[in-house]
Amino acid sequence: MNGAGTMTVFPGGPPEWQTFPMDRILMQRMRRTALPTREELRAWQLQRLRETLRAACTQSPFYAAHLSNTDTGDLRTLDDLTRLPRTTADHLRESGLHMVCVSQDEIARIVTLDTSGTSGAPKRLFFSQEDLDRTSEFFTIGMQAVACAGDTVLALLPDERPSSVGRLLAQSVLNMGAEPVLGGINRGGAALATLAMEHRAGVIVGSPLHVRTLAHGWRTQGLPKGIVHTVLLCWDAIPQAVVDLLHDTLGCRVLTHWGMTETGLGGALACAEQRGMHLRETDLLVEITEPATGLPVPEGDWGEITLTTLCRSAMPLIRYRTGDMGRIIPGPCACGSPLRRMDHSPGRLADDISLPDGTVLRLLDLDEALLPMPDVTDYVARWHAATTPTLAITLHATLPVAGHKELCAQAAEQLSRSQTLAASLAAGLHLAVSVADGTDDAMTYAKRRIHHVAPHNP
Ligand SMILES: [Zn+2]
Repeated sequence: MNGAGTMTVFPGGPPEWQTFPMDRILMQRMRRTALPTREELRAWQLQRLRETLRAACTQSPFYAAHLSNTDTGDLRTLDDLTRLPRTTADHLRESGLHMVCVSQDEIARIVTLDTSGTSGAPKRLFFSQEDLDRTSEFFTIGMQAVACAGDTVLALLPDERPSSVGRLLAQSVLNMGAEPVLGGINRGGAALATLAMEHRAGVIVGSPLHVRTLAHGWRTQGLPKGIVHTVLLCWDAIPQAVVDLLHDTLGCRVLTHWGMTETGLGGALACAEQRGMHLRETDLLVEITEPATGLPVPEGDWGEITLTTLCRSAMPLIRYRTGDMGRIIPGPCACGSPLRRMDHSPGRLADDISLPDGTVLRLLDLDEALLPMPDVTDYVARWHAATTPTLAITLHATLPVAGHKELCAQAAEQLSRSQTLAASLAAGLHLAVSVADGTDDAMTYAKRRIHHVAPHNP
């Protein structure tokens, strides 16, 4: 398809650590000393895919039934994958255990995800020790794209449980000879800025809104640029307003990561070029599909990120609908990596709102209007599809109560300038903006979304 893999990446032969770490993982896994071409990588992936399908059809009662009408032995190219039926979060909820391909005593960890709906059953994902080792490998090698030995890395991530992502990251940071500091997810901007300054944290890892809160604290205290050299944003999609703020206040480079429990935490990571995130194609086959049909969208178009795991032994996922929106960035990256790049869009596919005038409202539109406002730390959006459709925004803010009315007016003004919302607001869409009681403590680690509130009959 392109010649990216044959490019000379480091003509001067610099030390091994300067190679983009995901390319190092790729070469290790493919047992090569040079980067593969796209064609070689795809051929390798096809082998892993065939192995995955063989194991799924013979070891998992769920997949044996789910794929019974498809000739999985007849896969000639990766494109043939689109012939297979997709799997969903409901399959994980209802048949999780039956998707498992190993014996019970080979299960090393079960991750239970909070149920987001009212259906009751939580999603459960099963991992073998081998699966967990691949996640650790990704963290340890991947962090080398972000930090150097001797750096102090402040992690604003959940860290209470031994297997939490914060603890996993801390171990990877230690492995590479750097110093981890666990900052948790419950501190306000001033406390975060002070913590980062006290430890002279060169690197900060966290969700866009948590790092944004730190940046506001940094600005308020008048702290200098140049202390933090790199921020790695992860967990949730990255609003451009946050990236701009970090450049402005911290003067650092901003790298991004995409991942979810289903991807084994690691999913895609930006290289130094910072134009999209390189997919972890050693472990994942990512398709961008039309949500209604499951067919691939043209390269470069937005669609649903659909996952097939390639090396997952306990619970493989086959054409799993993530509900996240993404797009493939066409063409090779200037860094020379053969791994494809992806952009990720804020908000869940299921949250898209069809406004009365026919335009689609996404979380991204609200982010663009509200996140440039420095006093807004977070917000919750609710869509009431009643006789008078109402968009209700609850702001979380650091301002004292006396400033709330003015803040609501400013937010309403920002929203009314949104191209997406303008026509519907003029045509009578009701906008209700309020400020939540309390301050920073209202921030959670849930992925942000627009909540649909069903109309209820009095
Ligand atoms: Zn690159």
